[in-house]
Amino acid sequence: MMDINIEQIRQDFPILNETVHGKPLAYFDNAATTHKPKAVIDAVSEVYQKYNSNIHRGVHHLSNVCTQAHENARKTVQNFINADHSHEIIFTRGTTESINLLAHAFGETFLQAGDEVLVSQLEHHSNIVPWQLLEKRKGIKLKYIPINQAGELVIDKLDELLTSKTKLVAIAHISNALGTINPIKAIIDKAHSKDIPVMIDGAQAIQHTKVDVKALDCDFYVFSGHKLYAPTGIGVLYGKEEWLNMMEPYQGGGEMIKTVSFEGTTFNELPFKFEAGTPDFSGSVGLAAAIDYVNNIGLDKIAHYEHELLSYATKRLAEIPNIRFFGTAKEKTSVISFLIGDIHPFDIGTMLDKLGIAVRTGHHCAQPLMQYYGIPGTIRASFAIYNTMDEIDKLVDGTKRVAQLFG
Ligand code: PMP
Repeated sequence: MMDINIEQIRQDFPILNETVHGKPLAYFDNAATTHKPKAVIDAVSEVYQKYNSNIHRGVHHLSNVCTQAHENARKTVQNFINADHSHEIIFTRGTTESINLLAHAFGETFLQAGDEVLVSQLEHHSNIVPWQLLEKRKGIKLKYIPINQAGELVIDKLDELLTSKTKLVAIAHISNALGTINPIKAIIDKAHSKDIPVMIDGAQAIQHTKVDVKALDCDFYVFSGHKLYAPTGIGVLYGKEEWLNMMEPYQGGGEMIKTVSFEGTTFNELPFKFEAGTPDFSGSVGLAAAIDYVNNIGLDKIAHYEHELLSYATKRLAEIPNIRFFGTAKEKTSVISFLIGDIHPFDIGTMLDKLGIAVRTGHHCAQPLMQYYGIPGTIRASFAIYNTMDEIDKLVDGTKRVAQLFG
């Protein structure tokens, strides 16, 4: 057994002491959002108790302390993903806002009617709809890499999909609905061999695997804090300095200006050019605390343990008659999507809830993927560092009981 004490880790998460319908909580909705360790809750609380103040503009002490904390958080993120510069870290509200920022800023600066953006068939809606808005606004064309039955990208198609019109590839690192780990390094290398930049949606990867934007050589990498044990409302757009410098701003106002007159406005330098309005400094401080927390455990240990959870859960759930798994990629992590016979996922989810077991049911914001499988949705169990084998036994036993009830 590896050197990781799950019982001790569980004590760091106050919410795990809660009961649901009188039962201990077994939480398997981590791909939607993770719970927060006390270190993160305390860090946010400390902002408001000790140095809350608007940042960057103040001459007074509290404003300086708060500015320092926010900018230190930026450095923590920089180091976490191994970016060259802290000004390549743009704080946003989350993955969705990061992608919308990019679609707007990259779209306004570089895209013309007829240009193509390439995504994949397993994307979250947040990495489809912002590009579709650009289709409407600018007449670009959205294309996608298809998947196979296992839920893996059909990468052989990449050569023919990357055309002289492709201006950006935007692809999930890990699928939120299936857990597939996409071969992003190979995609980045192939796209770069044709001078096409690549954005990686890391919403489901950043909490499970070490991300090194320099080694990947991706042009943009986006993620949300709240899936990484950090507060809601804070996220990141990493972009290579040269791209960010060339791009038009997204929103106007606040900190993103250098000078404003009625004759015109000049814009601030990075990262502030893309951070209009008062930033979420309690969120950034919380995010840095979450990163420290994860680093203290070690992402390699987290990945290893979560893989054990995944293997065990896959093996045990397979005992259930008529279970169908969606997403059986060779490379996958921390997510199991399934259906049992023709029982509606919502019915299973509702009954499991009565047993204190939290799963997600539905299309998981990936309707094109569900259309590929010809299903309206699945039941999804997704794992985090605080889940245990015992909880998985509860999930399996509960699902068996529910299946018998409806079967
Ligand atoms: N992309 C992926 C792969 C996701 O899993 C999610 C969240 N489910 C998002 C984007 C959107 O993240 P957020 O809601 O935090 O903006």
